[in-house]
Amino acid sequence: MTATNRDELQLSRRSALGLVGASTLLGAPALAASTAACAGPAVVAPRGPAGEYQLPPLPYASDALDGFLSQEILELHHDKHHAGYVRGLNSTLAALAEARTKGDYSGIKALSRALAFHGSGHVLHTLYWHSMSPNGGGSPKDGVLKTMLDASFGSVDGFRKQFGAATKQAEASGWGILAYEPLGDQLIVTAAESHQQMAVQGAIPLLVCDVWEHAYYLRYQNRRNDYVDAFFDVIHWDFAEQHLAATRQGAVQGHGGR
Ligand code: MN
Repeated sequence: MTATNRDELQLSRRSALGLVGASTLLGAPALAASTAACAGPAVVAPRGPAGEYQLPPLPYASDALDGFLSQEILELHHDKHHAGYVRGLNSTLAALAEARTKGDYSGIKALSRALAFHGSGHVLHTLYWHSMSPNGGGSPKDGVLKTMLDASFGSVDGFRKQFGAATKQAEASGWGILAYEPLGDQLIVTAAESHQQMAVQGAIPLLVCDVWEHAYYLRYQNRRNDYVDAFFDVIHWDFAEQHLAATRQGAVQGHGGR
């Protein structure tokens, strides 16, 4: 398979997953290279020789966030839970390929649901690891992210309060999400229940907080609010800044100019 074909395949897979615009997350060198001012992808997730998805390594040692989350929580979460989504995504894509070969779409509803579930799980967990840093916390430095947080939420503190409240109140298992919405060229906060039910199609997650119990229960038990409050002590603003810049370059925008 040529590099071009592989890129096209990756793009078509992303389209199938409803992940268009997440190119900076899953790696689209062609797109990134075509925009001179682009900061480059913030994350390039590994792919196998046949284009299959692979579990990306944690971007820091598994004990690096110990003040916030223990090594045990991070290793379980990454090595077991995230790996499971990657496996599920690949097996669902294989099942879809088989359905196409056979021309048998009798199971398409369940396969579409599985694709959304595992695909969103893989994307959001990949983002989650990068949403935190042992050097994180504080406030974002002056730049596009801070400017857009001010414009969209009134202030960084306004974002912090809305993101914290939305995340704490996500029903059952879910996510708090800071997303870029390209038609309005603005930032929004959404809360996903489970993780495939994105509230705004086309909005591109920039920074996320996992509030499935497996993310925090071993240390925080039922105190989700304490976990979300402490998340801001490790929040990785520089990642969001770079991810936002690369995402805006690759997005089809309704209007821009910020
Ligand atoms: Mn999780």
